[in-house]
Formats: sequence, C-alpha cells, structure tokens
Amino acid sequence: MAVRLRWQQAENQRHAYDTATLSKSGLRPGMPFQTLCERTVTPTQDDFTELGGLWLAETCPYCDRAWRLHAGFPADEIPPLPQKGPPMGVSRGTDNGQVVVTDDTNADPSDDD
Ligand SMILES: [Zn+2]
Repeated sequence: MAVRLRWQQAENQRHAYDTATLSKSGLRPGMPFQTLCERTVTPTQDDFTELGGLWLAETCPYCDRAWRLHAGFPADEIPPLPQKGPPMGVSRGTDNGQVVVTDDTNADPSDDD
C-alpha cells in the first residue's frame, strides 16, 4: 500500500503531508491540511509555486524526520529532532563551554612596548 507524501509550504515552513489524507482535488490556498508533524496549517496562494509563489521557508525538521522514518531511511540518516528549548534569547550566556568570543577590543594599536 503506497503512501504518497508531498511537501507543501504553509505558515512559514515547508511541511510534508500524506496525500491520502486529502481529497482527489488536492491542496488549494486557504485549505487547511494535516502535516506529518501533526499540525494543521493553511497555505496561502503565495505558498504554491504553481500560483506564482516562492518556497523560501525552511523545511520543518519534524516533517523531515517523519518522512525519513516513513521512507525507511537508515538510522544514521535520520537526524535527531531539535531540542525544544526556551525561546531565543532566554538561555544565552549559560556555562556550556561553547562560548565563542568574537570580541576584538583586545586589538590595541598602541601596544609598542
Ligand atoms: Zn511539519
């Protein structure tokens, strides 16, 4: 039993969906659909390349993983899910040993000892 998965950009991410969950007419702008990451999103006209839209959104990592699992990818080709951490900017500056110092104020032109 073949399941046909497809990608569709919607709500600022490129999600994958199972075409079996849709009617034969397929997706249309303004028509919500269920993604592999178990969300319901609604594409707009700009999300359809055939309607003049552009696919500039990033690939949804959850859909990507779900697709690979579904397609039977080997385990080492299935990336781990991104961690659901706190929002950006909250956890900055923690002592994780990976702080990269890009401060160039140490460049002192008067150091002519
Ligand atoms: Zn998704």
